Amino acid sequence: MKFGGTSVGCARSIRQVVQIVRQQLDRRPVVVVSAHAGVTDALLALARTAPTGAADTDAIAERHRAILRELGLPLDLLDPLLLEVRDLARGLRLVGAASRKALDLMASYGERCSARTVAAALQQAGVPASAVDAFTAGLRTDSAFGRARPLPDDGRIRTHLQRVVGVPVVTGFIAADEQGNITTLGRNGSDYSAALFGIAVDAEEIQIWKDVDGVRTADPRLVPGALPIRSMTFAEVCELASFGSKVLHPAAMVPAMQRGIALRVRSTLEPESPGTAIERDVPGPRPPVRAIAHRATAVLVTVTSQRLQPQHTFLAKVFGELAELQCDVGPVAVAEAAVTFAVDPGFADAVQTAMAGLGEVVLETGQAVVGVVGEAAALARGGAAELLTTLAAAGIRVRCAGQGALGGTFACVVAAEALPRTIALLHERFFRG
Ligand code: ADP
Ligand code: ASP
Ligand code: MG
Repeated sequence: MKFGGTSVGCARSIRQVVQIVRQQLDRRPVVVVSAHAGVTDALLALARTAPTGAADTDAIAERHRAILRELGLPLDLLDPLLLEVRDLARGLRLVGAASRKALDLMASYGERCSARTVAAALQQAGVPASAVDAFTAGLRTDSAFGRARPLPDDGRIRTHLQRVVGVPVVTGFIAADEQGNITTLGRNGSDYSAALFGIAVDAEEIQIWKDVDGVRTADPRLVPGALPIRSMTFAEVCELASFGSKVLHPAAMVPAMQRGIALRVRSTLEPESPGTAIERDVPGPRPPVRAIAHRATAVLVTVTSQRLQPQHTFLAKVFGELAELQCDVGPVAVAEAAVTFAVDPGFADAVQTAMAGLGEVVLETGQAVVGVVGEAAALARGGAAELLTTLAAAGIRVRCAGQGALGGTFACVVAAEALPRTIALLHERFFRG
């Protein structure tokens, strides 16, 4: 049972988590938690500003103590960890810079604190529980700080968790490399952790508890009338995730896909609701369009080659540089001597620098990506055309668009300011029509 940042964001939601876990005690749950909402951002900001001497660790400490206070838990429960945060910030000021390794270490305190608080809240409610740091439980990764990849588990995680007293409340997001340095699985990585622990204990089900009633036909923050989807295939959710829907981390699906463990997204706000089941195959007739995903901010990059080299050589170099940067792109459009693709704004500067040697580089900021996820054949038969016609009729300009040859997603780039209208129109067209 994995609970995300919002689900453990305040005392009230943690009490709700306690109730939800209590109801499933007979299934012997392993609980995986994120940091309280906003804490990872705050810790990373702290680590980035600490070298300049501007860091203030009091606000983070107070946020945690306020939750403890409201839950009626001992106020000094987290003091050892909060002192480490203060010492680390001081250390970074002395060193004058925060390495990726230091950023991971700093970020790790969010989950380490929240696991202790949630375990204490369970105990307080009479449910035996113990906080477990993922690195102590044996979750190991490579040393790619900030985006570490898990190493194979030899059964040690299961053995460790079996020895824990009561319900193990494990930290999501974090692990350790083979030297014992703390690593993170990348932002929003707790879903992935849940899947890894689910595999490690050979779970009968992996439940991802969020503040939404499962996966919906669009982000409910943009489309309040988005409809709940009761079942989806792994492939559909992977498409949704890779085209920007934050609702489930794409890597969270891989272990479940490989082992066939049931995966379900459920809502802490509506615990009675079944949420969304994510399965290998979903039998029965399916609507051609399943959901609309978006990435709210993107930069469109166009690289034009000097035509002194064959197109394949040019493209190989462009994608080689992207691989170096570990930068994912999409959609992509290729012309004879130019390539255009959308990237996350965080990569824009690095991409510009890397591409500078390959040709003329033009960056357009203020873009957004919209992806319509559906059945590949239906999209090809007319869904994609319908999307383009709908947007053209509304005067929304589509910049770069495409559907993968196998793909169940048709993705396009629009101006960020047109995003809310684009999504509302497409939702209306595909789900209300
Ligand atoms: P947590 O951190 O609690 O695990 P996130 O906040 O990362 O959860 O993800 C849940 C959020 O994802 C929801 O609050 C919702 O706004 C957003 N979201 C985006 N697309 C969708 C979608 N298609 N269905 C449901 N939620 C979505
Ligand atoms: N706390 C981490 C983050 O904010 C991991 C997660 O919430 O999944 O990215
Ligand atoms: Mg999250």
